[in-house]
Amino acid sequence: MGGGFVRGEQGVVEDSTPLPHPFTTGGELLALCREEGVPVSEIMLRNELAWRSREEIEAGLLRIWDVMRECVRNGLEHDGVLPGGLKVRRRAKSLHAKLLSEPEDSLSAMDWVGLYALAVNEENASGGRVVTAPTNGAAGIIPAVLHYYRRFVQGASDAGVVRFLLTAGAIGVILKTTGSISGAEVGCQGEVGSACAMAAAGLAEVLGGSPEQVENAAEIGVEHHLGLTCDPVGGLVQIPCIERNAIGASKAVQAARMALHGDGSHVVTLDKAIKTMRETGADMKVKYKETARGGLAVNVIEC
Ligand code: SF4
Repeated sequence: MGGGFVRGEQGVVEDSTPLPHPFTTGGELLALCREEGVPVSEIMLRNELAWRSREEIEAGLLRIWDVMRECVRNGLEHDGVLPGGLKVRRRAKSLHAKLLSEPEDSLSAMDWVGLYALAVNEENASGGRVVTAPTNGAAGIIPAVLHYYRRFVQGASDAGVVRFLLTAGAIGVILKTTGSISGAEVGCQGEVGSACAMAAAGLAEVLGGSPEQVENAAEIGVEHHLGLTCDPVGGLVQIPCIERNAIGASKAVQAARMALHGDGSHVVTLDKAIKTMRETGADMKVKYKETARGGLAVNVIEC
């Protein structure tokens, strides 16, 4: 996605390609959507066109979706114990069999959302191929919510997947530029919180949300992860990370739906939620930032 860096002859340098609709904050993005009368995904698409053709953008995003699907498939096939010494058993395969064998009830969709995230994060924990979205530790949330969209939303399509990912990418640009997507920098609120916000925004857009509702969905995703520490047991991205992605994915679906039940107006803006995340992260003790020296990492005995 745009707004990043490019590797040139002088190493990694800031990309200075002029964009038709530059933005770094939620406020700027909303203003652009209003001025142009277009959704968030369209603003992102127009910016991406500065680098490549529409066909290339769509094909590239669908390739990313393919890798996400392959990752979920792999996660549902693999069984056994995850590497690293914690003896964490993989759960996705047996849960998949259970869900297939049981009659669906009113909350089955959420079981499937959790399952997809478990599958991805178990793959991540075992060195499998994942899409970094926005980080490996939080790689399960966007694929899980996209799978939810394809499986449970009527009329879901590849075009919708493209719009979902463009929207999620736009929110990712804002988070990366004005907040953080790094557990080492601000704790897990920056990883799982960011992924949740991106997925919530993507889902809100493909469910027909206005730019204001999309921004609201992203804001809910950030707000309700504020203060979340990074405390991986044994320094492995397994406990609490794998389950945390399943819960983060469920929250993203809920955030999108909650935003769509409103009219987009809300008190806490996305920018204020991100500012709070950044400041909370700055106040957070180092032991809660990917050091495995605080939280669950010291209260769960490794065996
Ligand atoms: S607890 Fe830390 S390592 Fe695990 S997902 Fe959150 S930020 Fe990543």
